Amino acid sequence: MKYRYDFHIHSALSPCAEEEMTPNNIVNMAVLAGLDLIAVTDHNSAGNLAAIEKCAQGKPLVLIPGIEVESAEEVHISCLFADVEAAGEMERLVKKKLLPVPNQEDIFGPQYLMDWQDHIVGKEKQLLLVSADLTVEEVFAAARGLSGCAYFSHVDRNAYSVLSVLGTFPAGLRTGVAEVTDSEEGRAFAAERKELKDKTLLYGTDSHRLACMSRGKNAIELPVSKDKLTARDVINWINEKDLR
Ligand SMILES: [Zn+2]
Ligand SMILES: [Zn+2]
Repeated sequence: MKYRYDFHIHSALSPCAEEEMTPNNIVNMAVLAGLDLIAVTDHNSAGNLAAIEKCAQGKPLVLIPGIEVESAEEVHISCLFADVEAAGEMERLVKKKLLPVPNQEDIFGPQYLMDWQDHIVGKEKQLLLVSADLTVEEVFAAARGLSGCAYFSHVDRNAYSVLSVLGTFPAGLRTGVAEVTDSEEGRAFAAERKELKDKTLLYGTDSHRLACMSRGKNAIELPVSKDKLTARDVINWINEKDLR
């Protein structure tokens, strides 16, 4: 079965995301676009995932709880989990390692924590747009240790991407999946780079606004029927690619 996805969405908890990125708006926009699978991946935090999961209940899509972790090398890594609890564990682990810098709303934007009815219930005080004192390898090991998966985000970008920072994929780290930006430039980059020839590519919108979310043109094939589809199916699919 083919499933339309968008695995790179930021909620209003990410300071760079628009305030319209509320739990209900994200879920409803995804339903309108006919997406079957979404992952919300705020920077270094899982704070809004429980609310978004509650919004997604009863809707014709599956939420994959995620976090976009920034490693010590300033490389962005998409980490996906089977449940909100595991994502919360990852957040606890990452937060302890974040450079302790308070958010400055006037510079970076607010970091809203929301409930499932889109009420603002608090603000994250720690600036989330910082790196964690964890190497790339440590981030992958932590996500996988929590029975999740990890892959490099937007590898075509000239900042915060593994290829721009490290020049290549780290030797010794098995990773079969990579995300490229869901754009003509992203696809052109992927076609040219030999490092990506043997990778399964995911196309990421890195949505910080509702209008940027996928309209459903990207799909993955999973051997499970829609009524049985869970986040675990996606994580297993990615981890199997990593083992090849
Ligand atoms: Zn990123
Ligand atoms: Zn992102």
